[in-house]
Amino acid sequence: MLDFIHPLSDDFRNIYFIEGERNGNYPFSHSLLIGNYLIDTGISGTRIKKLNKQFQINTAILSHWHEDHISGNKLLPNSNFICHISDKLPIEDIEMMFPYYKVEGTDAGKEFRVLFEMFGMKNTKISKTFNDNEIINIDDHLKIKVIHTPGHTAGHCGFYEINSKIAFFGDIDLTRFPYYATIDSDLVDYENSIDKLKNLEIEIAVMGHKDPVFGSSNIRVELDKFKSVIFKRDERILSNLTERKPIRPIDLKGKNLIYKRYTYNFEIISELVMIEKHFDKYLKKNLITTQDNGYILN
Ligand SMILES: [Zn+2]
Repeated sequence: MLDFIHPLSDDFRNIYFIEGERNGNYPFSHSLLIGNYLIDTGISGTRIKKLNKQFQINTAILSHWHEDHISGNKLLPNSNFICHISDKLPIEDIEMMFPYYKVEGTDAGKEFRVLFEMFGMKNTKISKTFNDNEIINIDDHLKIKVIHTPGHTAGHCGFYEINSKIAFFGDIDLTRFPYYATIDSDLVDYENSIDKLKNLEIEIAVMGHKDPVFGSSNIRVELDKFKSVIFKRDERILSNLTERKPIRPIDLKGKNLIYKRYTYNFEIISELVMIEKHFDKYLKKNLITTQDNGYILN
C-alpha cells in the first residue's frame, strides 16, 4: 500500500484516509476514499495519479468549490464529478473564484493567479448535483449520506457513511482557523453547521486539513473547541464597538483581529471579509444597529 493511503477501520476495509501532501496543509488537503468514490481531490497531483492507478476512481465527490479541494480533478479523466448545487458555478468556471474571494484586480488576485497556474487549475464539468440528506449508494454495504453544512461556502457539505459511522467534515476542519471569507460564506450558517455535525453519532471524523479524530466524544470536544475560536474572534471584534461612535468593518481593516500576522495580501482581504461576516451575524442577532453608515452596539 502506498504510504499516504491509511486504512481507518478493520471492519471496513475499503474506506481509507488519504493523506494530502505537506500533511494536508494549504494548498493541499486530505481526502476520504470509500470504495472507488473519492471525496475531494486536493491531495497533490502526484498522489492523485498514484491513487487513481490503484483504485480507478469512479466518482469524485467535491465537498466545496475551494481550489485546494478540487485541484486534482483534471487528473481524473475517467471520473464523474458531483457537488452541491450551490457550489457548482465556481467549479465549472474557475474564473468565478476571483470575485468570490473579492480579489479581482488586486495584488491578492495576482497571488491567486500564480497558484492557479502552478496547479494548472481547470474548469470541471459537474455531472450531477446533490442535496442535503441525499444518499449516495456505493454498494450493498457502503452508503454515503450528504450532510449540507453551509457557512464556509454556500454549498459546503460533509459526508457520513452510514454503516461505518465514518464522516468527512471538509473545511469544518477542526484546526485553529475557521474560515468564512468568500462572498457565499455565512457565519450563522457556519455555527449551525458545526452543531449539525455534533448531533450525528460519528466514530471517525476525517477533515480537510487535520489528522482524523477517533471516538464520538473526542469529536464533539473538537467541534466545540473549533466553535470557540469564532467566539474569541467575536470578543476581539466587539471590543471595538461602542454605543456611541459608529464603526464600519473597513475601519477594522489590517488590525490583526483574525490573522496574528499577514504573510500575503490575500490575508488582509480575507480578514476584512470575515469581519464583515461577524457584523452580518451581529445584525441578525440584533446586537448592533446601523447609524451614520456605521454600526453601534444596541
Ligand atoms: Zn475551503
